[in-house]
Amino acid sequence: MHLDIDLTGRRVVVVGHAREARRIVTRYRAAGADVDRFDTVASAVDELDGATLVVRVDGAAAALPQAPVQDGVLRQRCRDAGALLTREPAASDNGHVSLVGGGPGARGLLTLDAAAALRDADVVLYDRLGPTESLAELAPSAELVDVGKLPGHHRVPQAGINALLVQHALAGRHAVRLKGGDPFVFGRGSEELAACLEARVPCTVLPGISSSIAVPAAAGIPVTHRGVSHLFTVVSGHAPLTDDEHLHLAGLGGTIVVLMGVSTLPQLVAGLGRAGMHPDMPVAVVERGYSASQRTTSGTLSTIVTAAGAARCQSPAVLVIGEVVRVGLQLQGSAAHLARLTESLA
Ligand code: SAH
Repeated sequence: MHLDIDLTGRRVVVVGHAREARRIVTRYRAAGADVDRFDTVASAVDELDGATLVVRVDGAAAALPQAPVQDGVLRQRCRDAGALLTREPAASDNGHVSLVGGGPGARGLLTLDAAAALRDADVVLYDRLGPTESLAELAPSAELVDVGKLPGHHRVPQAGINALLVQHALAGRHAVRLKGGDPFVFGRGSEELAACLEARVPCTVLPGISSSIAVPAAAGIPVTHRGVSHLFTVVSGHAPLTDDEHLHLAGLGGTIVVLMGVSTLPQLVAGLGRAGMHPDMPVAVVERGYSASQRTTSGTLSTIVTAAGAARCQSPAVLVIGEVVRVGLQLQGSAAHLARLTESLA
């Protein structure tokens, strides 16, 4: 059950051993509660006055033979004191890593599993992509580490991130590596997984909504559309493509989605042109999807480099090349028309 109670300034009593209760105490303190912890039920029962909530940690002590009797006493005393009683599982000593796909940045596009992993995290390693704005709220008991930017603005190198994840887990923590989009789409998530496996650290991968589909959608562009495009290819523009790749991509005749492609846009456009793509092929550059400054710059294969240059398009952006861009623009035209109609009828 997930109850939404404002615990600011409320007294919360946690019953459980320090080690097992550590994460629970941190979480309630982070929620603004005034937390007292007692090792045993016997030491807690006379200290419940004024408590709003009593949390029984389901750890080793709760499994002892006398526990059912003690639990009965605790239940009765909570009733007397007018406090709610709940049980929470103890933190295990074994650390682990969750590789979490955070989606393209909007909090609502986090999966339920991703939100649960963040809620449980002791430490979160994040970078600029993904839902970073409300992290403190999403991961209330976690230390937040920006591995994309450190003093001096150097990003932590990949080997350093791998080592940090393993170190935290070996120290018994739940380390969450929060990544933009999906961890396995150009995210080096598989390298982080390999590092965990090598160190025998348990690691769970939680897929996320990839910007390759979601960011075009944010701009109203469907990556497929019946009768227009029945395939889409997702390409990294980190380095320029080869002429062979241009030829194959153009030959497919479907939608081309490019991530990390702003700086190599001129080479891509030239290459696709050489490969025979029509100069009128629509192209869109969607910057900062799901942020307040989201922007779409559109043009054709022959105009987009000038248009993107004039608009000073910057990373992060998703490029979409294909007739679906026209579909997107038409849909938006109809939507705007509908909005105007509704307005004039109101
Ligand atoms: N794993 C990520 C991609 C990582 S590569 C995913 O599945 O989405 C980083 C690139 O993703 C950026 O350079 C940009 O091309 C794209 N990207 C991610 N989030 C974005 C956003 N909110 N708006 C625009 N582009 C984004």
